[in-house]
Parts: sequence; C-alpha cells; structure tokens
Amino acid sequence: MAFGADAGAVRSILVTGGNGGLGLAIGRWFLEQDEETRVWLGVRSSRVKAEALAAEFGGRCELVGLEVTDRENWEAAVARISAKDGRLDVLVNNAGVHRDSLLATMSDEDWSSVISSNLDSVFYGCRAVIRTMMGQRFGRIINIASLSALLPPVGQTNYAAAKAGVVTLSQTLAKEVARAGITVNAILPGYIETEALSDMDSDAAKRAKSGIPMRRFGRPEEVAAAVGFLACQDAGYITGSALKIDGGIF
Ligand code: NDP
Repeated sequence: MAFGADAGAVRSILVTGGNGGLGLAIGRWFLEQDEETRVWLGVRSSRVKAEALAAEFGGRCELVGLEVTDRENWEAAVARISAKDGRLDVLVNNAGVHRDSLLATMSDEDWSSVISSNLDSVFYGCRAVIRTMMGQRFGRIINIASLSALLPPVGQTNYAAAKAGVVTLSQTLAKEVARAGITVNAILPGYIETEALSDMDSDAAKRAKSGIPMRRFGRPEEVAAAVGFLACQDAGYITGSALKIDGGIF
C-alpha cells in the first residue's frame, strides 16, 4: 500500500497518544506496511511502550513530546517533524480520555478535561498541520472518535459530546480542504481491548459482550488496519466519512 504523494520520498506519519493501546497498534501497522515510512509517536507522561516500539524500528520510529491540549506543543512538534522529514503526510488524532459520571454530579474538571483532550486537541492538531498539507497538495487526517458519538451511554455526556464534535469537525474540515488533495475522516470504535477498558470488571465486560453481535471486543490491530486504509493513496476519494468499527453494535 502506498501512503504519501511522492514515490521514493519518506512518508511522515504522526500518531498522537502514541503510548496507548490504539496508538501503538496504529504506529506498528504503518511501520510494518511500508519501509519508506517514518512514524512519529506523540507522547506525554508515559512513554515506555512507545520507546520499545521505537527501539524495534530504529530511526523509522521516533517519539515527539506532545500534550495535545497545548497549542504551543503542537506547533513545536510539527516544526520538529517538518525540519526532519520536510513534509507531514498523515495525522492520526488518537489521544483521548474518558472520565465518566452522571451529569448531575460531574465536576467542572471532568467536563473540561474530557472536552479539551478529545476535541480541542483535534482542532489544534488539524490547524497545526493543515498549511503543510496544503503546500504538499496531499494529506490524510484520521480522527479517532467513538461509537459513543452515535450511541451515547449513560455517564458519558462529556465524552459523547466531545466525540460527536470530532465527527462533525471532521466532516466540515473535509469540505474545506477537499480541493487541496487532503482527506479528513473519523473512525468510531466500539469496545476495543486497551487500557481504556481497564475500569470495566469481568461482569461488566460479560454484559457488554452480550450486547455485541460478534460477542467479543475488537482488537487494536483491527482499528489500525482501517486507519491504514484511509491513509493510503487508493482511499483518496473517501472523505468526510465516519467509519464504525464496533462488531455490529450500531
Ligand atoms: P489508552 O488509554 O490505551 O491510550 C490513550 C492515549 O492517549 C494514552 O497514550 C494517553 O497518554 C494519551 N492521552 C490522553 N490524553 C492526552 C493528552 N491530553 N495529551 C497527550 N496524550 C494524551 O486508550 P486507547 O488506545 O483505547 O484510546 C485511543 C483513542 O481511541 C482515544 O481517543 C479513545 O477515546 C478512543 N476510543 C477507544 C475505545 C476503546 O474501547 N479502547 C473505544 C472508542 C474510542 P498517557 O498514557 O500519557 O495518559
């Protein structure tokens, strides 16, 4: 599969939340698919797993400090990538958190940290890369939203609102940049086996699986393959889409 615009050039890919379950799987997918690819894993507090992936792939995988709620961090990260690769082909806005509680008892902090980590982050990230991508006349932006955007569960007013915002931001931006050869798509995972599900006990997991037609949680690699497809040249006519990966729940 080919990713960048120019054959022979390094394809430069930035994945935020690069130390998390999905971020690592997405990074690995690109590294294994294409030897001309350099993957930048955006990390903040934890970086041990990202460092292990970088060690496995040598100079083709690098870490870049990126607190996604901080616009100056974004500018610095994109400047570092552009200085090294001279381009940025793919941005995967993957970092995110959830802090669930009923709205009646939700703290201001739980509201604003979820909105800012999941939604402000996507705005800052898209804005930080868009000029570079326009200059290249090529770009792929893939935003990781959530099935909660369409089927909001009780206790996720903050997260569902943020992820629904990610979907509509993606659809709007897709129209704004279509003529510049840039596609923007959202992915809506259902339950995927990562740390994000670690607060679910085994009874809750059993109940959740019974509501999934496939009767299992998804694997991070199954999301990574879809991200990879949306990033490739052959997916150039897919833009503004919202792809559910949920084992048939919706
Ligand atoms: P993980 O908890 O494994 O990873 C999340 C990653 O995001 C971590 O590396 C975390 O960094 C990073 N992160 C969170 N907030 C910030 C921030 N403000 N700045 C920089 N990095 C940040 O979860 P997943 O891999 O499962 O989640 C990836 C994405 O997929 C998220 O957007 C999530 O909402 C979405 N998703 C996941 C689903 C699932 O079932 N797993 C379902 C639907 C959507 P650190 O470790 O330093 O905190």
